[in-house]
Amino acid sequence: MMSFLRLINNLSFFFGTFVYHKNEEMNTQKIGWIGLGNMGIPMAEQLIKADYAVTVYNRSKDKEAVLKEMGASIAETPKDLVAATDVVIVMVTDDVAIEQVFKGDDGLFSAENAGKIIINMSTVSPSISKEMAALCQDKGSIYLDAPVSGSVKQAETGQLVIMVGGDETAFNEVKPILEKMGKMAVRLGEAGVGNVAKLAINSLLALYTQGLAETVVFANQQGIKTEDLLNLINNGAIANVFTKIKGYVIVADNYKPAFALKHIVKDLNLAKAIGLDLPLAKTARNTFEAAAANYGEEDLIAVIKQLKA
Ligand code: NAP
Repeated sequence: MMSFLRLINNLSFFFGTFVYHKNEEMNTQKIGWIGLGNMGIPMAEQLIKADYAVTVYNRSKDKEAVLKEMGASIAETPKDLVAATDVVIVMVTDDVAIEQVFKGDDGLFSAENAGKIIINMSTVSPSISKEMAALCQDKGSIYLDAPVSGSVKQAETGQLVIMVGGDETAFNEVKPILEKMGKMAVRLGEAGVGNVAKLAINSLLALYTQGLAETVVFANQQGIKTEDLLNLINNGAIANVFTKIKGYVIVADNYKPAFALKHIVKDLNLAKAIGLDLPLAKTARNTFEAAAANYGEEDLIAVIKQLKA
């Protein structure tokens, strides 16, 4: 319980201070990176900046160019990537994507796996992590689930909070890599536990988001301007970094996704599947599911548009 609360208290949705120290020597582990979405690109960039030799693969090949320019090698398939690297990191959407990356025709499991450490940083179900951990063990590799809290800003500045499930020795081996992407990396227990912690945190994220959106809608209905309300909130005792960042998104009326609304629907449903059945979470799930039809590709705070309609 203590380490979970420590995680919560270290969550930062704010712009972290980033100090970049160029390494004196090249880091020796060769890293493979799969999944170059909103999070994957800035996270992989942190490893290149830290002088790791990084090979990337993305399903849509056009997204690989920016990493290639920074010095990454490109793998045609996950199979080629695992053959060329020691540690493989996966940052993709959901359980379906994990199935394809691991078990697809040219997936990770189609290559020789012995001795590799495979780290899944995606937000997925604890059950798929337990399944992949067992399959990795059969193949002589080690699987860690290591989902992250924080969003694109934190990924860009190496300030994510990383929660890990899986083998302790492997965790200690890759901790220096994780710490290039995060301000903390904590192991909570065996495979799947990182995913459970992440789903708990994202249920709070959903509540914060709907709470902020409803507060703004109510105040606007009563004639108070959004800027004025946020000025009061952000200078008061209930101020938090999330309110500051997402408040700015509402004022700017620009809902380009840092964390797409459809992803919080995924996470609330994953939490439901493992037993989250509490009043606020149920309400939030209904709200975000209703909003997803119109605003699923936008940032999750676009739920305010649904509440205003
Ligand atoms: P995203 O921008 O939607 O990118 C998703 C990535 O997954 C893309 O590289 C995509 O490839 C790949 N992918 C999807 N389906 C695939 C499949 N079937 N096979 C192979 N690759 C597939 O997502 P994101 O925002 O980076 O989030 C990635 C993960 O981190 C999610 O689990 C999300 O819940 C979690 N997360 C996100 C945030 C955030 O603020 N964004 C914060 C914490 C955690 P293509 O380019 O080919 O589509």
